[in-house]
Amino acid sequence: ARTPLMAGNWKMNLNHLEANQLVQKLAWTLKDMKHDYADVEVVVCPPFTDLRTVQTVVDADKLEIGYGAQDMSAHDGGAYTGEISASMLTALGCTYVVLGHSERREYHDESDELVNAKTVKAIAAGLTPIVCVGEGLDIRKAGDQVAYTLAQVEGALKDIKAENVENLVIAYEPVWAIGTGEVATPADAQEVCGAIREKIAELYDQETADAVRILYGGSVKSDNIADIMAEKDVDGALVGGAALKADEFAKIVRFKG
Ligand code: 13P
Repeated sequence: ARTPLMAGNWKMNLNHLEANQLVQKLAWTLKDMKHDYADVEVVVCPPFTDLRTVQTVVDADKLEIGYGAQDMSAHDGGAYTGEISASMLTALGCTYVVLGHSERREYHDESDELVNAKTVKAIAAGLTPIVCVGEGLDIRKAGDQVAYTLAQVEGALKDIKAENVENLVIAYEPVWAIGTGEVATPADAQEVCGAIREKIAELYDQETADAVRILYGGSVKSDNIADIMAEKDVDGALVGGAALKADEFAKIVRFKG
């Protein structure tokens, strides 16, 4: 069975001091709620400049909260001003990295080829990629969301072996639902998440497809998460705005009550 995963994508919010406070408060809140991390895994993805601080808090208090970056370079190292490598992330204890987020695709022209190159590097470094896919409003209106999203999945997974896909996380984030308050219906989320799992079964095999965790992202809140999680192919959420408040994110993690 797949362990549900709730990952917070902080985007460009919270400096390292604020990160320290949020992670501590999240840990206390979940402890008060007697949260069992084996039941629902918890991950935060802060800005790069917060990662060292998050590592320090997690290590000092032996927290079971995982953490990772929101992006990384496709290069191993060298003359790439402003970039951060996979090995720099693993040196800070990161276990996850978000790749191909729609905001990277939109504002930094990230292509499926680049997302694939980053995914290959992340896996080689031992990181678990959270590969983001999802359609924009025009594609949704045309009814092409499944074909569009599956092409992104196929592009991101090019030349990646089944044994590496098993541990992978895919996040379906319809762009029109991100930060808009317009959450996809549970049926919308299931339609595409189910199609992604079928695609992985077709590209690899059923066992691999059954192992991959598929998250939904886009205006997830504590009051809509339970219905989304009730869908059979949704294994968790990639949460933006609602992950910036410890109480709210803890309630999302504790969606079962
Ligand atoms: P919101 O939860 O703020 O809509 O953001 C979703 C997202 O993009 C997470 O990666």
